[in-house]
Amino acid sequence: MKPAAFDYIAPRSLEAAVEALAAADGDGKVMAGGQSLMPLLNFRMARPSILVDLTHVPGLSFIELRGNTVAIGALTRHADLEFSALIAANLPMMAAAMPHVAHLAIRNKGTIGGSLSHADPAAELPMLAVFYGATIKVQGRGGRREIPAEAFFVSALGNCLEPEEIVFEIDFPVLTSHTGWAFEEVARRFGDFALACIAVSLELRDGRIADARVAVMGVAETPLRLREAEDALRGAQGEPETAAKFAAVVRGCLSPADDIHVSAEYRKHLISALAEKALMTAWTRAAGEKS
Ligand code: FAD
Repeated sequence: MKPAAFDYIAPRSLEAAVEALAAADGDGKVMAGGQSLMPLLNFRMARPSILVDLTHVPGLSFIELRGNTVAIGALTRHADLEFSALIAANLPMMAAAMPHVAHLAIRNKGTIGGSLSHADPAAELPMLAVFYGATIKVQGRGGRREIPAEAFFVSALGNCLEPEEIVFEIDFPVLTSHTGWAFEEVARRFGDFALACIAVSLELRDGRIADARVAVMGVAETPLRLREAEDALRGAQGEPETAAKFAAVVRGCLSPADDIHVSAEYRKHLISALAEKALMTAWTRAAGEKS
């Protein structure tokens, strides 16, 4: 199919882009890489009166280390994240996750701002934003505001942006004390959206887990950070019993729904198995053992 007719504008500043959206009174759409939006337009599932193309706005594509934070511009492509030495050194989970996003042709066009704003419940970058506790910076008509990632995702494909607000930067804290991590995902075919996915990172002290981070996606309407599962790991060691108990807590936190791909029960089984594997991998890395 072809999209319904729309006006097109390619502003040269963020302020002009916000003004164009505001003038459309809720009927405009921002376009970044177009990888999710174009199919929606072609299927006429989105019918904006005007498309505001962000790609000519300067200064929105960058990856910078600022103290203990990695700042990423909203127009930064998935492929830039995948091949960045700065990302690999400071956000290793992100580097590991990027090859799971679609295919290279899509990663060459798709952007981090587009991925977060699209808010697919089975997308990698939204989960990583929740996992790292990222701050999403947006500009609207009244100025700028900062949104914690956990508050940004409100439903499947739903975010908390006002119609004229645009994401311009995302700040990821570096988890310096977390020396062990694991990213585990299962999709039907490589490049498909995940059926289930978990991210785990650990800080060890005196041979025990002192702190943990856990986030999941593909198993709920939004990506989730699982604090109950994090608490269950404190003081434990990386043993098979710990992993089995951890997997049971993760499973108990979730109530996925049946869908056209798999049953809810299968998804719960999958996330438990991934949780067990991720915990042991993160432990092995943190303890400096060979896997
Ligand atoms: P666009 O398509 O341009 O926009 C997406 C939405 O975000 C639109 O509503 C748009 O208005 C809004 N938007 C864009 N930028 C901003 C901004 N800065 N501020 C506010 N709103 C904005 N993704 C995954 O994570 N994992 C996958 O496995 C995966 N598989 C895919 C497979 C296929 C075949 C395809 C086509 C896509 C897949 N994707 C996957 C999605 C892909 O990663 C998209 O590129 C991404 O979700 C959207 O990025 P974009 O820059 O193309 O956004």
